[in-house]
Amino acid sequence: MSFIIRCTDCGHEVVYHPLSNNCPQCNSQWREVVYDFEQAARALAQELPRRRFNLWRYREVLPIKNPIPELFMGEGGTPLIRAVNMGMMLGNMNIYIKDERQGPTASFKDRQAALTISTIKEAGLTEMVAASTGNVAIANSAYAARAGIKLWAFVTSLVPEVKMREIALYGSQVIKVTGSYDQVKQIAAEFAEKRGLFHDTGARAVTAVEGMKTIAYEIAEQLTEELGPREGTLPGQLRWRTPDWYIQAISGGLGVIGVAKGFREMKQMGIIDKVPGMIAIQAEGCAPMVQAWKLNLEEAAPVKNPKTHIETLATGTPGRSYQFLRKQMQNDGGLFESVTDEEAFRAMHVLAKMEGISSEPAAAAAFAGLFKLIHAGIIKPTDVVVVNCTGHTMPAEPLVLGNGWTRDVVLPQDQKPAQEEEGLLAALNRVAPDRFPRVAIIDDTADARRLVRRILQSQGDFTIFEASNGMDGLELVQREHPDLLILDLMMPEMDGFAVLDALRSNSDTAQIPVIVSTAKELTSEEKSRLQGQIQALLQKGDFMSDEFLEEVKALIH
Ligand SMILES: *Cc1c(COP(=O)(O)O)cnc(C)c1O
Ligand SMILES: [Zn+2]
Repeated sequence: MSFIIRCTDCGHEVVYHPLSNNCPQCNSQWREVVYDFEQAARALAQELPRRRFNLWRYREVLPIKNPIPELFMGEGGTPLIRAVNMGMMLGNMNIYIKDERQGPTASFKDRQAALTISTIKEAGLTEMVAASTGNVAIANSAYAARAGIKLWAFVTSLVPEVKMREIALYGSQVIKVTGSYDQVKQIAAEFAEKRGLFHDTGARAVTAVEGMKTIAYEIAEQLTEELGPREGTLPGQLRWRTPDWYIQAISGGLGVIGVAKGFREMKQMGIIDKVPGMIAIQAEGCAPMVQAWKLNLEEAAPVKNPKTHIETLATGTPGRSYQFLRKQMQNDGGLFESVTDEEAFRAMHVLAKMEGISSEPAAAAAFAGLFKLIHAGIIKPTDVVVVNCTGHTMPAEPLVLGNGWTRDVVLPQDQKPAQEEEGLLAALNRVAPDRFPRVAIIDDTADARRLVRRILQSQGDFTIFEASNGMDGLELVQREHPDLLILDLMMPEMDGFAVLDALRSNSDTAQIPVIVSTAKELTSEEKSRLQGQIQALLQKGDFMSDEFLEEVKALIH
C-alpha cells in the first residue's frame, strides 16, 4: 500500500525508514503515517470479507509493503466480550471488554511489536533497542526471537522480576536500570544512538502508533457484528458502529493516541460517523496529565517521583503526548481521570470475580476509572463503552534462567550534570563493551544464517557478519578478521571446501577457527578433506542451541 511519513510540525513528507527518527526539515520527532484513504477504503470494502480476523486484515492502512507470514503469531483479532454481570451491577448493559490478554504475549503491546518488528525486518535490520515498563519489551522480545533480531531491553529496576525473566527467556538482553522510567528512556536512546540501532520510541514511533490503531478498527467492526449494521447500510458497504467511550489506562499515552488515530481515519474514510470519547486513566500517584487537564493547562508538568505500585503506569514525563491527547479530547470528546492503586486493585478483584477475567493492575486501573465515571454520572446507563483489558503475563520460571540474566546499571545520584554524563557513558560501557567477539557466518540459505544468528544473539554478545556465498564470504573474512567462522559446505559456485582451502593457504587467515555446518552426511573422503582443517562439525537439523553455543564460546575464549 502506498503511504508516506508526514511531519506533525511542518508537514514535510518523507519515505519511511526505521533508522530515521527526525523530520529532515525541522528535526521534529513527531510524525505520522498518511495513506491514500480513498483507495484504502475501496480496497478494504472489497477485501475484508475474505481475510482472517487479525491485525493484518487492515494492511491497506498499515505502513508495510508485505506482511511477513513467518512472524505471525495471531496478533490482533482479540475478542470483544460483553460484561454482563458487571453491567448488571453497574446498571449499564453495554459495557464491552476488548480482551487484549489474548494476544501472543498477553498485552496490547503485541500489536506494536508485530508491526514494528515486521517493518524493521523488511528493512533488513538485525538489532534494536526498547525502553519499557515491561510489556513492550516482552512483546518485542517474542517477535524479535522469530525475526532473528537482537533486542536490548532497558527496564527500570521496579519492573517485577517475573516480567524481566520473561524478557530474558525470549533471549533478549535485559538491562536493569536503577532510576526512573524517564531516565531509562534517556539511557536507551543514548545507547541506540551510539550504536546506530533502531529504537522503539513509543508514542513517537510511527509503527508503534499504527499497530495500536488496529484496536479501533477491530472494535468498530466487532460492535457492528454485535449490535447489527447501522440503518441504511447497503450490502458490501463499510459502515461500522463506534462506542460512545473508549477507556484505557495510560502511561506514555501511545495506546490511546494510536486508537484515536484509527477512529479518526475511519471517520475520514466514511466508515464510521463519529469518533468515540477517549478516556485516559492514570494512577493517582503518577497523574501529570490528569492534573493538567483538570486545571485546563496546555502543558503537563512532570511528576518527579511517581508514587504508584503500578509500575506499568509510572511515566512521570508526559511530554507532547499530553498535548495531542488533549486536542483529541477537545475535538471529539473524552477526558482524563485518575484512580488510586487501591481502587485499581479492588477493580481487579471485581473483574476476576464477576467476569472471570484476570488482569494485571494496570489494566484494572481502566476498570476502576469506568466504575468512578459511571458513579459520577459522566458515563450514562445507555452509553456504549469499550474498556481495554490487557496484560497478564505468566511468570517465567526462575530455575530455567539461572543467574546473571540482567546487567545492572546504577545511575550516579546527586551529581552535577557533567559528572552525570560521564557516569552514564561509563555505565553504558559496562552494559556492552565496544568490542564483542566477532563471528562470521557464510551460508547461502537465509534461514540457516538467521538460525545461527539467533542462537548467538539470544545467549551472548557477538558482532555478527554474514555472507550468502563463498566469494563474498572469503572477502568478508579477509576484511573483518573474525574470531570465528561458521561455514556452510554446500554452496553453489565456490563451496565451503574451496573457501576453507583459500583461508588456510593464506597466512593472514590460516589461524581463524572454523565450525563447518552441513546439511548432509559427509563421505569419508570429505571427512578426510576436513581433517585438521576445522575445529568442529555441526550437523544441520541435529544440534541443540546450547551445545552449539558452548562450542562457540570454547573456540573464542
Ligand atoms: C503499556 C500499558 C499501558 C500504558 O500504555 P501507554 O500506551 O504507555 O499509555 C497500560 N496498561 C497496560 C497493561 C500496558 O501494558
Ligand atoms: Zn518537520
